[in-house]
Amino acid sequence: MRSFEDTYRHKGLRMQLVKVLKEKGITDERVLTAIQNIPRHYFMDSAFDKIAYEDRAFPIDADQTISQPYTVAYQSQLLEVKPLEKVLEIGTGSGYQAIVLGELGANVFTIERQKKLFDVHRRFILRDKYPRIKYFYGDGFEGLPTFAPFDKVIITAAAPYIPPRLVQQMRTGGKMVIPVGEGHVQRMLRLTKQADGTTTEEIFENFSFVPMLEGKNS
Ligand code: SAH
Repeated sequence: MRSFEDTYRHKGLRMQLVKVLKEKGITDERVLTAIQNIPRHYFMDSAFDKIAYEDRAFPIDADQTISQPYTVAYQSQLLEVKPLEKVLEIGTGSGYQAIVLGELGANVFTIERQKKLFDVHRRFILRDKYPRIKYFYGDGFEGLPTFAPFDKVIITAAAPYIPPRLVQQMRTGGKMVIPVGEGHVQRMLRLTKQADGTTTEEIFENFSFVPMLEGKNS
């Protein structure tokens, strides 16, 4: 069961969350405003309503998680999204990160490999509010060649390696934010695509994501 009521109490809790994210080092005001504006409790079972604004990950369907707000803010900040940019997201999950990107004004193409999670977005209450977000059921390792090139690519699952097809689908000068590593911990990387097709790499903090898996799951 989900509850779609956004009360003053929820807004107050979001203000607290934004404060926590600032204390943890998030500085991008646009990202903080997006988090202030989005009712995160809409993305979770109402059993979690009271703790939806703690800075932690939560279970959703199909043994997946909605990422920790700090992680969402961190990746969104690194992505440096500008309005109307084309952004490819791998791992729709709850859809929260996609909606943060939508709030930042991006044209979002988001892919989920779990059919059960994908199906939720067909009738999600915020869907009509963000017509610039397009949802796809598929394998993120393949990307979306039909819609390439993308200005930005964001991977929200632990990638065992940098998927070559996603690099191909970036424009020159485009950026990819990707947690790479196969164990319990991944290193956040930001790649920038060069004119010769190679990428330069910046290395950031460690995070812990659910794995990025090959193929689709019905
Ligand atoms: N962005 C999400 C985070 C969800 S967790 C949010 O804001 O809630 C990561 C998601 O990536 C899971 O839903 C998982 O099913 C999905 N995933 C893993 N491997 C994938 C792949 N190859 N293609 C698409 N989605 C994938």
